Amino acid sequence: MQQSSARPHAGDTIALARPDIGERELAMVLAALRSGRLALGPMLGEFERALAQKLGVEHVSAVSSGTAALHLAVRAAGIAPGDEVVTTPFSFVASANCILYEGAKPVFCDIDPVTFNIDPDAARAAVGPRTTGLLPVHIFGYPADMPRLEDLARKHGLWIVEDACEALGAVHEDGVPVGARGNLAAFGFYPNKQITTGEGGALVCPDAATKARVDSERNQGRAPDMDWLDHVRLGFNYRLDELSCALGLAQLERLEELLSARARVAAGYRERLADIDGLELPCPDSGGARRSWFVFCVLLPEGVDRVAAMAALRARGVETKPYLPAIHLFSFYRERFGYRPGQFPVCERVAERSLALPFHTQLGDSELDHVSGALRAVLAELRASPSARRPRARSDNGGT
Ligand SMILES: *Cc1c(COP(=O)(O)O)cnc(C)c1O
Repeated sequence: MQQSSARPHAGDTIALARPDIGERELAMVLAALRSGRLALGPMLGEFERALAQKLGVEHVSAVSSGTAALHLAVRAAGIAPGDEVVTTPFSFVASANCILYEGAKPVFCDIDPVTFNIDPDAARAAVGPRTTGLLPVHIFGYPADMPRLEDLARKHGLWIVEDACEALGAVHEDGVPVGARGNLAAFGFYPNKQITTGEGGALVCPDAATKARVDSERNQGRAPDMDWLDHVRLGFNYRLDELSCALGLAQLERLEELLSARARVAAGYRERLADIDGLELPCPDSGGARRSWFVFCVLLPEGVDRVAAMAALRARGVETKPYLPAIHLFSFYRERFGYRPGQFPVCERVAERSLALPFHTQLGDSELDHVSGALRAVLAELRASPSARRPRARSDNGGT
């Protein structure tokens, strides 16, 4: 059941993201709260089994965030200090940071200009003698070209960790759900994702032994029998609490409904924005691959000042975000690794022009009309006034 308070009134700002919490979610969280068991209780295993069933996999470990899932994934893959890991600069920063947590080095390569996922040819060129792994991201919910990346990994003996944090419900060309290829795959359940647990994440493990290791590492390295006296390895507190698992269970029950509501909103934008000159919309599904809609990011027409566009949209009650900024151009990455503008031109061009529009399940036709109308009007305004145009709109590297 959706909340009627979700409808914005005249003068309200249409928010970028909004979780879809129904009566079932409220009831299940309340039941977990009333049970008196708030951590390491029955909801954890139930949530893991329900997610495994949805994905068609056997072993899932639920953890406290998508970042925690990525961290435990690279550890399970066998990452070691000094290793190089080939990954994409067009992602949320966590997919590169998790490599740094273990003293290894993210080596970026450019992206595909259509899907914005890692370009397998660029990935091949980036593999060197110290490379031990590949970390592709299914960006904006569009499946990365895993068959070609898996070939590359086989050829060079590399491990693979998939960042599927934006892609729950997406399907590969060969019909396999994203995250179910037998690789380590991380999901995230932050409130803007397809389903939410508040904070939360999960790791798909290839086998029972890997899940046992991950379960132990998320819980301070305790032995699997939960012996409080023995810590058999270095661990963390990456546990997902019972309230979050209850929320996640209720959301998973509604997964198909939530995914189709997101697809409806995406189709609504596409219909309304298709004819705006120079505006690029997210790539349509191709070759049997199916995107799971996470965000609706457009590329503004070349030369349009994105900062001015965002301010004008905000004045019309539309929240937007420059999403995503290129990771290699963050000051921390530039200073630490010497990355500089111009190294990954496709990524940089996309990152400079990309703008996320409000996107969640509760956007109705009137909100879609409003956002689309506002974008159309703002672009017309900016094109009519040369002072508001800059030859090359610089990224303001807004956070996520
Ligand atoms: C959301 C997300 C994550 C994980 O984020 P958390 O906030 O740690 O749950 C990781 N990678 C990508 C690409 C994401 O979008």
